[in-house]
Amino acid sequence: MTATVHTAPVVVTNDPLNAGADEFGVIRGGGVVIDHGVIVDVGPAHEVVAKHASAKHRDHAGVLTPGLVNAHSHLQYAAYADLASSGLPFSPWIAQMVQRRMLTTDEQWAESARSGAYLALRSGTTAVADIVTDIPALAPIARSGLRGISYVEALGADDQQWDEQRAGEVGNALDVAMAQTRTAGISPHSLYTLSRHAFTQSMRRGRELGLRAHTHLAESADEVEFVADGTGLLADMANGIGWKLDAISCGGFAHTPTIEMDGLEGLGADVHVAHGVHCNAADRALLRERGTAVAICVRSNKILGAGRPPIADYLAEGSPIGLGTDSLASSPSLDLLEEARAARDLALLQGYDLPDLNARIWQAITVGGAFCLGLDGRDLPGGTADQVGALTLGALGDLAVFDVPTDSDPFAALIDHGAGECVATVLGGTFVHRRSGR
Ligand SMILES: [Zn+2]
Repeated sequence: MTATVHTAPVVVTNDPLNAGADEFGVIRGGGVVIDHGVIVDVGPAHEVVAKHASAKHRDHAGVLTPGLVNAHSHLQYAAYADLASSGLPFSPWIAQMVQRRMLTTDEQWAESARSGAYLALRSGTTAVADIVTDIPALAPIARSGLRGISYVEALGADDQQWDEQRAGEVGNALDVAMAQTRTAGISPHSLYTLSRHAFTQSMRRGRELGLRAHTHLAESADEVEFVADGTGLLADMANGIGWKLDAISCGGFAHTPTIEMDGLEGLGADVHVAHGVHCNAADRALLRERGTAVAICVRSNKILGAGRPPIADYLAEGSPIGLGTDSLASSPSLDLLEEARAARDLALLQGYDLPDLNARIWQAITVGGAFCLGLDGRDLPGGTADQVGALTLGALGDLAVFDVPTDSDPFAALIDHGAGECVATVLGGTFVHRRSGR
């Protein structure tokens, strides 16, 4: 396999230490060299082209970036897009999801997951924190080549159901996931669909296996009420399904979901949580203390009426964040640059007015997502030494190219104009998506 040099008028590397890069890692007239699937050189185009004279040369128009990292999705729900436009608010929506799931066949899960992976790749996303609830969804995503983690979901169990059935099912799904090339993780779904015992046991099982974890936290006001008082629409749903959950029998715990999850061993540097909409300042400080990053999903929260995540606060306080599209069942697209625009606009609305806003939102869909997944090169517990989200020596050779203006601030250009404009996606040095010019 010969090396390939990719050059472009603007290369966003996210690594300020690269030759010719500015403080945000941008190289005007830059080049990246990929050999055997890994980045072996980055710098000014004329230098890397001269240095790697025998390599193949691809000169791109537009802005060349690392492949994007989606910090929260359920690719297997690609076929549920009609639910995102149903107008249902959070609790009736999740009840619909629970019902609908029972009618979906193995073949449908596989096909839906395959189309989700395809939509991610063609929008420039090369790594996904993907929650997998049904085993047939695992193989198509592994085959797609997408990086990231398939988090096997533990969904819906009280103490008895966990011990008698779900623990075995989740263990089996973890075995299948770990036998595949894509990295496996564990996802205890939430505080309102699992008993305390079931939640803690699933976390422990993942840690015994050395896996990272990812869970839903503080998504809706209904969840806040459920944890604090053991009442509300989510208590009604659990009772209706027949889950005997502690919050209901105890009349709530009089604290926030974040405090509750911490008590159930659910936070840590090997965990990232999705949503974090209803996290107050103390909750956010606790998440930072535990080293737990938050995958923010602004568009999904809006569609389900879950509220507005305090993204300006997360940014101002220096919390580690990524962005997630969530699934097509609650989101208009799997395009992370569309998500980034919504997140940027919400931060502005919430009063974040520093000039680094576009750059920081950009970081959330690249290096921030890599941090969420333990794929930022730190080799954390449950992670690997693989690095994504930055074009830097030794990182995986995953690139995206966007047809956006190259004569202005590249972060604003990508966020304002990048959605739907991915013209090429490269995975480990191989093109997996190409769109010809118009
Ligand atoms: Zn989710």
